[in-house]
Amino acid sequence: MNELFTVLATAAPEGGTEGGGIASWIDLIYLISAIGFILSLKWLSHPSTARRGVFAGEIGMLLAIVGTLIKTEIVDYRWITLAMIVGAVVGAPIALLIKMTAVPQRTAFSHALGALAAGLVGTAEFYLHGGELSRVIMTAIGFETILGYLTFTGSLMAFGKLQGVLPGKPIIYPGRNVINLSIFGGAALCGLYLVLNPGATFLFPWLIGLSLVFGVLLIMGIGGADMPTVIALLNAYAGLSAAAMGFAINNKLLIVAGALDGTSGLVLSIIMCRAMNRSFTNVLFGGFGATVAKAGEEEERTVRSIHPEEAAQILESAQSVIVVPGYGMAVSQAQHKVRELFDALSRKDIDVRFAIHPVAGRMPGHMNVLLAEAEIPYDKLFDMDEINSDFPQCDVALIVGANDVVNPAARTDKGSPIYGMPILNVDQAQTVMIVKRGMSAGFAGVGNELFFMDKTMMLFGDAKSYIGDVVKELSGVHA
Ligand code: NAP
Repeated sequence: MNELFTVLATAAPEGGTEGGGIASWIDLIYLISAIGFILSLKWLSHPSTARRGVFAGEIGMLLAIVGTLIKTEIVDYRWITLAMIVGAVVGAPIALLIKMTAVPQRTAFSHALGALAAGLVGTAEFYLHGGELSRVIMTAIGFETILGYLTFTGSLMAFGKLQGVLPGKPIIYPGRNVINLSIFGGAALCGLYLVLNPGATFLFPWLIGLSLVFGVLLIMGIGGADMPTVIALLNAYAGLSAAAMGFAINNKLLIVAGALDGTSGLVLSIIMCRAMNRSFTNVLFGGFGATVAKAGEEEERTVRSIHPEEAAQILESAQSVIVVPGYGMAVSQAQHKVRELFDALSRKDIDVRFAIHPVAGRMPGHMNVLLAEAEIPYDKLFDMDEINSDFPQCDVALIVGANDVVNPAARTDKGSPIYGMPILNVDQAQTVMIVKRGMSAGFAGVGNELFFMDKTMMLFGDAKSYIGDVVKELSGVHA
C-alpha cells in the first residue's frame, strides 16, 4: 500500500489553503478512508473474512485518492493523470498475471518502489526548503529518507534473492555486523547533524548514499529462505517512512496509514520469528542458512516406505485424518490433488481436517492461500493451537511436504537449531504418513526422528503425483 500512500503525498500536501467546506469534506473522506484501512487489517486476519478485508482496503485507498485529488492546492492534473495511467498500465498486469508462488518477490519489489518514492519526496522537501526547515520537520525528513532509501535497496536485494537473480546463500565475512552498524551509524549521525544545522546541505547526499549502501549490506548477509521475515520487516520500515513523510508534509492520513502499515509489518515479523523460535537479531545478523546440512547427506538408517495402493488402503480404513501441508506441497503445486483426496475421503465419511502451522511454507499464510485456491472449506482449516490436542485421537496424520513444522526435535533436542519452535504434534497420531521425495532435510537443515518411528510410513515421491496416485486408488476401489 505504501506506493499509493506516496502517490497521495506527492499529489498534494495537506495545507490550510482549502476553502472551509472542501477542507471539512476532505477530513471526512480521510476519516472514512482510515476506518477502511483499520477494518481491512482486522478482516484480513481470517480466511473467511479476508476478501471483505481486501475490499475494505480498496475502498479506503480509493477514498484517500479522491480526498487528495479534490484538494484546491492542485493546480495542474496533467502529471497526476499521467502517473495514474502509467501506474495502472504497469500494476494491473502484475496483479493479474503474477503466480501465487511469486507473491513474496512481487511484494518486495513494490516495497522497493514505495520506499524509493518516500525517499525522493523527503529529498525534494529538503532541497525545496533547505535551511528554513524546523528541527521537528527535519527530524521527520531524516527518518523518512534514511528508512526510505535503505528499504529501497534492501527490498531490491530481497527481490533478487527470492527471484533467484542473486545467490540465496547469506554472504558472511568477518566484522560484517560492525561494518553494517557503522554505516548505519554514519547515516544516523548525518541526520542528527542536519537536524541541528539544516543548512548543511553537503551532508544530505552522504545520508542518502550511506542509507542505500546499508540496505544492500544488511540483506546480503541474510539467507534467501529468511527473506519472507525480512520482507515483513522492510514493510514495517516502509510504513514508518511513510508515517514520517506524513509529518514532514503535514498529511494526517499518511501518518495514520503509514503507522498502520509499519506496526502491522512489525507484528507480522514478530509472529514469524516466534513461530520459528528465532529472535530478530538472529534473523537480521545470524547468517542463518550459511552452514545448513546438505540434503540427504547424513541419513543411512532404514525407514518404512509404502506404495500408493497401501497408502490408499490405510486412509480408507481411517475414521479421522489430519492433513499437514508444508513447503513441499507448494513446490509441487499439489493443493488441487489434496483437494481431490479430501473429496474422495469425505465421500467415504472419513473426517478430514487440515492443520496449519504459522510458518509452514515460505511466507505467512502460504498454506491458507494454496488451500483456499483449491477451495478447501475454511471450516476444515485449523490453526496449530486449535488442533494440536486432537492428534492423539486421530487415526492418520498425513504430512504433505512438511518437515520442520512436524519435527519432534523442536520439543526434545536442546542442541537442535529448531529447539523451542512450537510444532504440530503429529507424532502423537496413531499412524503417521509422510509424503516427500527423499530423506532431505527442510529449511532448518536438520534431521527428523519422525521418519524412523515405528508408526511412520514414508510415501516417497513428488507430492502432486503421489497424492494423485492415491486418489486414483481410492476411486478405483469403488469404480
Ligand atoms: P520444510 O521444513 O522446508 O520441508 C519441506 C519438505 O518438503 C522438504 O523436506 C522436502 O523434502 C519436501 N519437498 C520439497 N519438494 C517436494 C515435492 N515436490 N514433493 C514432496 N515433497 C517435497 O517445510 P515446512 O515444514 O513447511 O517448514 C517451513 C520452514 O520454513 C520452517 O523451518 C520455517 O521456519 C521456515 N520459514 C517459513 C517462513 C514462512 O513465512 N512460512 C518464512 C521463513 C522461513 P524432499 O526434498 O525430500 O522432498
